[in-house]
Amino acid sequence: MIATAPQQHITLGSIRVTYLPDGYALFSPTFLFPTTTLADWQPYQHLLNQDGQILASIGAYIIQTPGHTILVDAGLGPSQLALERNAFLQGGELLLSLQNAGLTPADIDTVFFTHLHPDHVGGISRQVDGEQGLLFPNARFLVRRPEWLRFANPAESRLGIEDALRLLEPRIELIEGNELLVPEITVLATPGHGTGHASLLISVGEQRAILLGDIFHNNVQVEHPDWTNSFDHDPDLAKRTRQYMLQELAKPATIGIASHFANAVFGRVTLAQGKYQWHMLQ
Ligand SMILES: [Zn+2]
Repeated sequence: MIATAPQQHITLGSIRVTYLPDGYALFSPTFLFPTTTLADWQPYQHLLNQDGQILASIGAYIIQTPGHTILVDAGLGPSQLALERNAFLQGGELLLSLQNAGLTPADIDTVFFTHLHPDHVGGISRQVDGEQGLLFPNARFLVRRPEWLRFANPAESRLGIEDALRLLEPRIELIEGNELLVPEITVLATPGHGTGHASLLISVGEQRAILLGDIFHNNVQVEHPDWTNSFDHDPDLAKRTRQYMLQELAKPATIGIASHFANAVFGRVTLAQGKYQWHMLQ
């Protein structure tokens, strides 16, 4: 049975990572993975809902370290996006999820975006007296440099993110790959889905968690890293990033955190007989 991922957390030593649901998305499988046919999906019917659609989770994360309360991504926010009959996205639960985690927007001191697509940045604003404003009054906002600079090109799509970009403009701080976000968390450059796409490596002693962002959109890509998705900016680079990341995820004591997976966003990857497999944590 396919469902969106529930609110759930993991701990690594003194660090807690909590998934905050914001909503869901539905995709036709051959639209989301345009190199596949319905026959390719025959062995993966268990990954589809009763209508033969891919159900994807949409959400954000709170990382609580001894020194910081970090929000990673912000969900879609209270809106809907539809791409003809091939895709439908709905958000709006982020604040309730934050409340369920015992936090308010004022508790967040850092907001980091893996990338600036609507389902990751849309939830940063709210409307007060007819005006849009940023939801997290005490936060710094950070994104990897090339992800912000790509909007210098007027041809870049701003669909669904016009408000977010305008509000972030005076506040955004740019960070580089391999820089520390906070002492326990390193920014990883993981391009392909977008030029400036980033992941986060959380390390505590021997334990590691890798917050993947949108390197993978569905667990089927763990077995088929060559199945590129229709939102990958550079399909070849996205494929190489997936192959590299699978090697990292299969290392000991490593948890993967995959934003759009159904049922659970936390899991482990194993490699057996040349085949990678995803095992969700429940
Ligand atoms: Zn996404």
